[in-house]
Amino acid sequence: MKILIAEDDASTRTMLECLTKKWGYAVVSTSDGEEALRLLEAADGPNLALMDWLMPGLEGPEICRRLRSSRSEKDPYRYVILLTVKGEQEHVVRGLEAGADDYVVKPFDPQELKVRLDVGRRIVELQEMLRYNARHDVLTGLLNRRAGLERLEEECARSRREKTPLSVAVLDLDRFKEINDTYGHGGGDEVLRETAQRLRGLVRSYDVTARLGGEEFLLLFPGTSREAAEEICERIRGQFESEAFLSEKVFVTASIGVAGFGGDEDERALLRRADAALYEAKNGGRNLVRSARCRPE
Ligand code: GH3
Ligand code: MG
Ligand code: MG
Ligand code: MG
Repeated sequence: MKILIAEDDASTRTMLECLTKKWGYAVVSTSDGEEALRLLEAADGPNLALMDWLMPGLEGPEICRRLRSSRSEKDPYRYVILLTVKGEQEHVVRGLEAGADDYVVKPFDPQELKVRLDVGRRIVELQEMLRYNARHDVLTGLLNRRAGLERLEEECARSRREKTPLSVAVLDLDRFKEINDTYGHGGGDEVLRETAQRLRGLVRSYDVTARLGGEEFLLLFPGTSREAAEEICERIRGQFESEAFLSEKVFVTASIGVAGFGGDEDERALLRRADAALYEAKNGGRNLVRSARCRPE
């Protein structure tokens, strides 16, 4: 796990670097408050921080305050331990009020610091698990409905901003109820898991796959024209049709509706058009890919 050491006193900083490296942390360090904040705000920044109270640039509590106010629930948690010689009660209260998670008074006992970091790591791991579960579907491991629709919104904004194509598809398994009826809910679940696994393998790494609910999946193809997305979906449809599920016991087909983003519509309109195309695929006899008309009506 990455740890940030923000400490302007060189000898204390060196000691903290040595100790935390010895305890297995990947260490990033700075002597400047502004830089500490910048490092913690970076998307792939350290989850844990040992932060001096007094530093040039910004003081520890101010860094905590800004960090807490700038972060949303989507951002990874930053667990901050304030290092301070100011052991008095009022300072401790001020530091924790500013958003620090814990504090250690200098001079500190290395063993105490180590176990306090262990506590921090446990909290970070819990936070990561919560963050993961809030965005992923438990059964398939794909993005869940909420996260999928968030990505849809983001990708539409990006497509509009960068004037790049974007296509979406909604895939629904055909007559899935019969699978449940024949193989039980457990068998149905297994087909859903396998569906997710196949979809992951059939799209590119920067495409997005989400479970919208039940046996319905959302696919996002950034930078892809509707024609190209249709081809990918045709490949998916063909693969489902030709390779049996549940250890080659069950054939399950899928109907897919595709829509290309027009730029002059919002993401809900785009999704409605993909849904309408899916409806046409179902009405057309299932096991089909259908595309929505180019522009919203
Ligand atoms: P169609 O071709 O028109 O899509 O028919 P269908 O049977 O696939 O569609 P329908 O909406 O009638 O049935 C969907 C079924 O999916 C019913 C529901 O019990 C089942 N289902 C929804 N979520 C889950 C799940 O998490 N696990 C399992 N095993 N089944 C689920
Ligand atoms: Mg200092
Ligand atoms: Mg279905
Ligand atoms: Mg359905």
